Amino acid sequence: MEHVGRELAHDMEMRAGLNEQLERFFDLLVQTTTTGDTAWMDSILLDWAKSSTVTDLEEGMYQVTFIINRMMALTIQVAKETLTKQQALNLLAAVIPIYTYGLGAVARYEMETRVAHISGEMEKVQKQMERVDRSKTAFISVAAHELKTPITLIDGYASMMEDLLLEGKGVPLDGMLAGMQTGIKRLRSIVDDMLDVSMIDNDLLKLNFQPIQIETILEILKNDLSETVKKRKQTLEVRQFDGSKQWIYVDSGRIMQALRNILENAVKYTPDGGRITVDGRTLPGLIEVTIKDTGIGISLENQAVIFEKFGQLGRLELHSSGKTKFKGDGPGLGLSIARGILQAHGGSIWVESDGYDEQECPGSAFHVLIPIRTESPETRMAKLFDELEKKE
Ligand code: ADP
Repeated sequence: MEHVGRELAHDMEMRAGLNEQLERFFDLLVQTTTTGDTAWMDSILLDWAKSSTVTDLEEGMYQVTFIINRMMALTIQVAKETLTKQQALNLLAAVIPIYTYGLGAVARYEMETRVAHISGEMEKVQKQMERVDRSKTAFISVAAHELKTPITLIDGYASMMEDLLLEGKGVPLDGMLAGMQTGIKRLRSIVDDMLDVSMIDNDLLKLNFQPIQIETILEILKNDLSETVKKRKQTLEVRQFDGSKQWIYVDSGRIMQALRNILENAVKYTPDGGRITVDGRTLPGLIEVTIKDTGIGISLENQAVIFEKFGQLGRLELHSSGKTKFKGDGPGLGLSIARGILQAHGGSIWVESDGYDEQECPGSAFHVLIPIRTESPETRMAKLFDELEKKE
């Protein structure tokens, strides 16, 4: 016990714990040699084997097998040093088979734990693959549905125009052309969203950092949305906040796209007459923008789901290709793109809402964090290389 304790436990506290275990082990060892029944050892071997963590086993560290091996070697050494040859032989003949039994039992248990862990991992991968498969199928049905609506529109206008041209009455076609263009614009925006999602998924989103004030982005968005907001009798208030005038380096086009997606949703999921407020503040190293609405809100369980691709898959019947119509669900890509863009900047996005209720309208608040970069990452890289060159 002394030898083993000295070799395996480095500090006093550990040694005390180990001694207790060793005492139990050697008592059982004596018990086993007298009865000849190895089952005496099972409980302690199992306890020891269980103490190896899955991580140890995963990394190939078979600690308990190692300890028993060392104990066996030390027993041989001590027997040789302190006993007569005959005594040593007698002792070793009695205990070595028990050590060997212990090694076998522990190795088996460690292997079983490792195999169980690996099959657990495989099950996880299998589940993930099933999810991917389901989301692929869902993608096809949503994509097909979303694309079909504008195609039907364009198709309708085209045949109407064809009929009118055949009749040759010289009826003006500009209204129909405008309708067609609306359909084409919608098609393009869906396809663009799909391409963006695929770029984000494959880490191919390239950011073009330019200095801008968040205020400018918000003003442009307010302007772009003003007509829709008026149509929906809503109020869109963009407040000035600490940080809104700070010049920061971002990909302004992409940040605008992210904020636009959030704002368009705020309009879409807020009933006529509702209110949307954009505010913010500066946090250490970050600018926080908050987009609050008085809309239908989001249930707690959906608050994480909506940032996934096709966050609203369950409600296929709602998909209506509406960008800002009340509850006119889109393909469910807007927030996942927004999240991808913010994460590519090193920022983040989350939502707070007291739940989903179309009558009470508890509203939602989207929080966006944008890192404050006072110089372009490319400039920083360039400077770094400059300095390295100078050193050479
Ligand atoms: P969609 O194209 O469906 O709008 P998004 O990714 O933009 O896709 O949003 C995902 C889902 O999150 C929406 O379908 C909607 O259910 C929910 N959602 C997003 N913004 C809001 C909001 N401001 N209020 C209530 N629900 C929202």
